[in-house]
Amino acid sequence: MRIEEDVKLDFKDVLIRPKRSTLASRKDVDIKRQFTFKWSGEKFDGVPIVAANMDGVGTFAMAKAFEENNHGLSVAITKHYGIDAIKDYYKKHGGEHVWYSIGVSETDEEKLKVFMNSKVQQNGKGVTKICIDVANGYTEQFVEYVRRIRAEYPHLTIMAGNVVTGEMVEELILSGADIVKVGIGPGSVCTTRKMTGVGYPQLSAIIECADAAHGLGGLVCSDGGCTSPGDIAKAFGAGADFVMLGGMLAGHDQSEMDVVETGGKKYVTFYGMSSDTAMEKHAGGVAEYRASEGKTVKVPYRGDVMATLQDILGGVRSACTYVGARRLKELSKRTTFIRVSQQLNTVFGDS
Ligand code: 5GP
Repeated sequence: MRIEEDVKLDFKDVLIRPKRSTLASRKDVDIKRQFTFKWSGEKFDGVPIVAANMDGVGTFAMAKAFEENNHGLSVAITKHYGIDAIKDYYKKHGGEHVWYSIGVSETDEEKLKVFMNSKVQQNGKGVTKICIDVANGYTEQFVEYVRRIRAEYPHLTIMAGNVVTGEMVEELILSGADIVKVGIGPGSVCTTRKMTGVGYPQLSAIIECADAAHGLGGLVCSDGGCTSPGDIAKAFGAGADFVMLGGMLAGHDQSEMDVVETGGKKYVTFYGMSSDTAMEKHAGGVAEYRASEGKTVKVPYRGDVMATLQDILGGVRSACTYVGARRLKELSKRTTFIRVSQQLNTVFGDS
């Protein structure tokens, strides 16, 4: 057994220090990023925020809203849509705003193959980006899977994860991932840390993983733990190239979920993708050998996601103004984090 004594930080443990700036207004800030992905060669030009591939978040309705919003945000579509619904969406909207999500099951791989051989794909409207998503990205089988998908589909942009340490980020990038998804345990409806004791404070995970990825020409997507626009700004400030959001986008019209009224207030159900609720819905129950690592909560109904997007984009823009970053790309270079004392931490937690 070993103990690492280095301090590891979460979003709540830091604030961004303001810096002298020549920016007069937040409207002067460009929060789009331009990337050419390492392996696929695909070009990206947009706000690098991705809706998580979760029920109630990674929906086609969300993708349509993001398309209308016109800032180039994207959605990782939940893998539980049927192939016909997926074809239908791509036929009408193309693949610019969506990540086709898969796990590592044979069924997922077969479904992707069917889609890649479909007319929609051949007509040039199909999948360009995929998200290979597993709870634990540390297995040899996962690395092998990423390698196989890269060999089979050299032109697809691959986002793969999740991991939280530099050496595994390097291994995944060298195996064919363009972007590595970073985060184990920070999610709003995740119980992994409680159930297993495993995890890594998210801000430090981003800092260390971004350093490893950038050294190889790869990118990272911070996944989980953002509860406010300020957390998103901190994730970008720490070096995240993309930020994935679940809970912050749940509870909207675009969630494709029922709105329930109790005590005069409206709510929408939101749950982790390995919660009992998700497993009942998609797999007919929790398998005997595993425990649920997600919870089910009720989030207040928040109407159209457009208003939330405005808040998010406004917050990130404003953070850039405070440190004098004219473009989102400059934010991490201009970020100095200040550690917040335990006492202040509590105060911020309450506000
Ligand atoms: P949030 O933005 O809500 O804090 O985090 C979203 C992320 O939580 C997702 O993108 C995914 O990585 C993770 N997540 C979603 N469902 C579950 C779950 O049931 N268990 C765990 N451990 N993580 C989950």
